[in-house]
Amino acid sequence: MSTSKVILITGASSGIGEATARHLATLGHRVVLGARRTDRLEKLAQEIRSSGGAAEYRALDVTSLEDMQAFAAYAEEKFGPPDVIINNAGVMPLSPLHELKVEEWNRMIDVNIRGVLHGIAAVLPGMQARKRGHVINLSSIGGHQVWATCAVYCGTKYAVRAISEGLRLENKDVRVTIISPGVVESELADTISDPSTREAMAEFRQIALKPDAIARAIGYVIDQPADVDVNEMIIRPTAGA
Ligand code: NDP
Repeated sequence: MSTSKVILITGASSGIGEATARHLATLGHRVVLGARRTDRLEKLAQEIRSSGGAAEYRALDVTSLEDMQAFAAYAEEKFGPPDVIINNAGVMPLSPLHELKVEEWNRMIDVNIRGVLHGIAAVLPGMQARKRGHVINLSSIGGHQVWATCAVYCGTKYAVRAISEGLRLENKDVRVTIISPGVVESELADTISDPSTREAMAEFRQIALKPDAIARAIGYVIDQPADVDVNEMIIRPTAGA
């Protein structure tokens, strides 16, 4: 069993965040779950507790700095200062730029970039003061490569990598990890409103990892000794059984 850490997870109500919460709790960590759908968080927290784990949850909209600060304060009140934050919440309403779905562009920027920055802002002063901590940010293979219809989404994921790298360079005591998954089974593509992009993505997403594969990668980076910082992991699926 690893040392029990206090771990904040944004976007814990489905997909990668949900699987990560479950896995980290089985490793003995105390998890604090945030998302907007609190009915799902409540169910997950109960499931973790009934298996002997420690979990709390709180409603969180990552686009609000105040909400994120309240989330971090709640975690500290329940379990103590956060050791790790996993900035996982994300949305992916893909479409060609000429469709001018400006509201969807803005939503991706607000959740995928501002949400990550808000998570950093909520925990960084405490981590710097304690001279330890770990910020784990979800980027993507879309933070390494751009596809048609993915310009804005990929832009947000490139930004997550840039922000993470800057954070790492500025903080010698705080570990920073970028997690860049390939396709993972989740609800992420449900936010695509453009019919032809939705159809193309359904094809592209046929070979996919289970969210637990990403959860295990995150468990690995957290459980490294304090003097080891895994800077990035890229995890892609294969068609193998
Ligand atoms: P899901 O759609 O299953 O989960 C996304 C999570 O983000 C949900 O829990 C949702 O909760 C939360 N969320 C969305 N908006 C907000 C908000 N404003 N405030 C708080 N939480 C929010 O997708 P995944 O699990 O796949 O995605 C997790 C991360 O992994 C994302 O950053 C995504 O970009 C990244 N990723 C995913 C890949 C994939 O193929 N699945 C590949 C590469 C990266 P709620 O709606 O309840 O608020």
